[in-house]
Amino acid sequence: MMADDTVFIVPCLRCGTANRVPASREGEAGRCGNCHADLPPLHTMPITLDSSSFDSFVNASPVPVMAEFWAPW
Ligand SMILES: [Zn+2]
Repeated sequence: MMADDTVFIVPCLRCGTANRVPASREGEAGRCGNCHADLPPLHTMPITLDSSSFDSFVNASPVPVMAEFWAPW
């Protein structure tokens, strides 16, 4: 478990400003403190996707997504 006060740096894709985003905002898309552009959603924890949610999640992500594929027994 991460402490609630953990802060991540999320760079703005428009102006490059490094924005400090607290871990408590997991999965949320914030706004750049400099130019107010939408920031990529903060995802620091693995999430489980399936065949109905994979495409929409990956296609909506403005940043690369790391995926691990597995099959049930
Ligand atoms: Zn910005």
